[in-house]
Amino acid sequence: MYDHIIVRYGEIALKGKNRKGFINSLKKRVKKVTSEFENIIVTQSFDRMVIKLNGQDPEPILVKLKTVFGIHKLSVAVKAELDLEDIKEKSLTLMRNQQTEGIKTFKVTVKRPNKQFPHRSQDMNREIGGYVLRNTENLTVDVHHPDRELRVEVKNDGAFISCDHSEGAGGLPTNQDNKVMLMLSGGIDSPVAGYLTMKRGVKIEAVHFHSPPFTSERSRQKVEDLTRVLARYGGDIRLHIVPFTNTQKTIHNEMPDNYSMTIMRRMMMRITERIAEQTGALAITTGESLGQVASQTIQSMNTINEVTNYPVLRPLISMDKVDIMNISREINTYDISIRPYEDCCTVFLPEAPKTRPKREHANKFEQYLPIDELVEEAVSGVETIVIKENEDDFADLL
Ligand code: ATP
Ligand code: MG
Repeated sequence: MYDHIIVRYGEIALKGKNRKGFINSLKKRVKKVTSEFENIIVTQSFDRMVIKLNGQDPEPILVKLKTVFGIHKLSVAVKAELDLEDIKEKSLTLMRNQQTEGIKTFKVTVKRPNKQFPHRSQDMNREIGGYVLRNTENLTVDVHHPDRELRVEVKNDGAFISCDHSEGAGGLPTNQDNKVMLMLSGGIDSPVAGYLTMKRGVKIEAVHFHSPPFTSERSRQKVEDLTRVLARYGGDIRLHIVPFTNTQKTIHNEMPDNYSMTIMRRMMMRITERIAEQTGALAITTGESLGQVASQTIQSMNTINEVTNYPVLRPLISMDKVDIMNISREINTYDISIRPYEDCCTVFLPEAPKTRPKREHANKFEQYLPIDELVEEAVSGVETIVIKENEDDFADLL
């Protein structure tokens, strides 16, 4: 029945002079995620995009569109001629169809940006509502809490009638020039942090520290799978796998046990900053949440952060674990994150890591560590793979 999808922008509408750029980025992304549907036609205006389906089923397209940042709302619509009779007829068909889904109450809301159309919104509300009521049974109007709102928008090229709306992903469309390096473990938090970073319109690359043979191929596979899910939202992602075994062993052997975790994190930061520098990423994102574990106290963050002057983004900083878990379920990373494989951080975890490490102590201990050599060795051993978005079959969403 539906022949169009209407894509409504969220915050883009507020962007004033920059709006054009945002809309172009959004259109590119929309075209990319829907490229397999060859018959559809996408057109945009300053406040929305319209997708003409040309016979294509809207459902699989909606699944894809829900991954696109910058989309606020999605509606499936029927287009009528600029003719009140046609609008009434199509409204009726649509409401009859809704009745089969158990809908009992409705209201009509008409908007008429096309002032050439000779009927006023208020009159159309009554005409259409009355026509639907006369030609259906068991359907009543409820202007305050209707089961469905039948929206009719009279535009210059026709009237769009819709009543089924769903939420888009929100946020801003990706700007390919803004790049951030995500520190991606196999845990629950960092994929969510990556998602939230992309949501604000930046592109991510990911870095993962891997310590074979202490961490297995399967834990690496897990990180690749997580990256693939993230690529649904932001497009292809470059994943940098850092060999971290030697650094961890050296820290384990040479550094005091209670500072080994702090110093390992400082090494991760240094290496990540170097990779960011090489790839043009301008900030680092982590999945840290204040107070969650020993390495995430405010003292730890102060001491770990000392080694980089890149902005460190922590989108989860104030979130509770349950809220983070809820997002990870929504974005489909949760089931991958809870696979049981070991992470490099836990393998060498000391019995009692310092929860209030001090910068001066960390600096003192690190005088005995060949920092530059370890960073050099790790960076030169990086293996970079590109995780393609179209390798993803979306099977879990369809
Ligand atoms: P996560 O659920 O993301 O693993 P976590 O609660 O386990 O987080 P930590 O182990 O303290 O917390 O890690 C804090 C952050 O450090 C992670 O969110 C991630 O950004 C980064 N990190 C930890 N381990 C790795 C790793 N092996 N490779 C890359 N980044 C890592
Ligand atoms: Mg972890």
